Amino acid sequence: MDCVFCKIISREIPAEIVYEDDATLAFLDIFPRAPGHTVVIPKKHAVNILELPDGDIAPLFLTVKKITGILQSTFSPDGFTLGVNHGEAAGQTVPHLHVHVMPRFKDDKGSNLHSVVSNAPKEDRKTIGARMRAIQK
Ligand code: AMP
Ligand code: ZN
Repeated sequence: MDCVFCKIISREIPAEIVYEDDATLAFLDIFPRAPGHTVVIPKKHAVNILELPDGDIAPLFLTVKKITGILQSTFSPDGFTLGVNHGEAAGQTVPHLHVHVMPRFKDDKGSNLHSVVSNAPKEDRKTIGARMRAIQK
């Protein structure tokens, strides 16, 4: 599989691995935006959360929690940003689902997740809510 993260899983490409279990792997981002910036991935190749089988979702987020705790103990940050760039439009550059865990510090010159987009809807909330409920029927 020509996927950089699959190659990290198979050890064809080196990485600074910080945690591994049967279903997931966590390693330091090669271009860290913060001290300890870690990437958590499922071992099963899936481009995004919609492709990942239900059974692999909980293990992925359990590892996200584990890494967040490890980073809290290692760096004593003031907070975290946890995030997924899902799809090219959202800035995804590696087509293997990954969750960024970024320790945050007061005055670290970052921002919040709301700052990644500014595209207010034209429909009101009621209309959008009705559309989303109708899809589930
Ligand atoms: P995204 O933009 O969400 O797809 O993020 C991909 C992330 O993977 C970026 O933050 C990259 O710095 C990181 N990355 C890409 N290749 C590697 C690698 N070989 N080892 C570690 N991190 C990587
Ligand atoms: Zn992959």
